[in-house]
Amino acid sequence: MNIFIGVILFYLGAGLGSFLSVVIYRTRHEISGIFLGRSQCTHCKKNLMAIDLIPIVSYIGLGGRCRYCKAKISPLYIWIEIISGLVCTLLYFKFPFLNAELSTILPMVDTSLLFDFIRYELISLSLVAIFFYDLLYQEIPDIFTYTGILIALVGNLISGNPLPQNYITGAAFGALFFEVQLLISKGRWVGTGDVILGLLMGIVLGWEKLIVGLFVAYFIGAVFSIGLLITKKASGGSKIPFAPFLVTGTILSVLFGSQMIDWYIKVLLQA
Ligand SMILES: [Zn+2]
Repeated sequence: MNIFIGVILFYLGAGLGSFLSVVIYRTRHEISGIFLGRSQCTHCKKNLMAIDLIPIVSYIGLGGRCRYCKAKISPLYIWIEIISGLVCTLLYFKFPFLNAELSTILPMVDTSLLFDFIRYELISLSLVAIFFYDLLYQEIPDIFTYTGILIALVGNLISGNPLPQNYITGAAFGALFFEVQLLISKGRWVGTGDVILGLLMGIVLGWEKLIVGLFVAYFIGAVFSIGLLITKKASGGSKIPFAPFLVTGTILSVLFGSQMIDWYIKVLLQA
């Protein structure tokens, strides 16, 4: 039953990912009314029909091309849907708010888990938007980070988080971590967007899981960069967008941070 719900939520998440791609495009091109207006082909400007907008299915069905002008659609469109779907499903397994026994007809909803699911899903959507925006345009729009910060703050307040100092320390540490790099490098290593993203990471994760998130981000970033250097897809001077790694580290830390900390302490105690 949980698998079944997981599949439904994957598709719901993919739909939200499809919406994110519209938000990203309209933010970049400063088109007002993100929530209004119909979707168009960015190439031939023809209004798209509902059948062209089915997450994942339409992209595969049309072979990654516009139905009308056959212009190639960036594979990032299907990736944002797949990743959003995956995150939504994993968050459900982390916060299984439906007590779905096969014997019961109507599953029971655990409201506190449902609340956690919704708040981390909304934060993840802001993060996924940052991931793809930075990948596409090498920039972190403040509006996405501030949206995430607002949701995280409201979420912490409503949940009556018993340890506000954990999140305040996290926010301060996250922002300082990048602010110091910004000052030392005079803006060459990181930008102000990273400082605000660090703040967001700290509020979402708290200081302990923030360390896990940063570690994961830098680890994946290093492996990825070495891979690019070996395959000669990048040179020493290439600029690789870093927000995607920070976003990946943050989401993985939300999902598995507690287990990673437990595992690490166990290893330390055995040593
Ligand atoms: Zn077209």
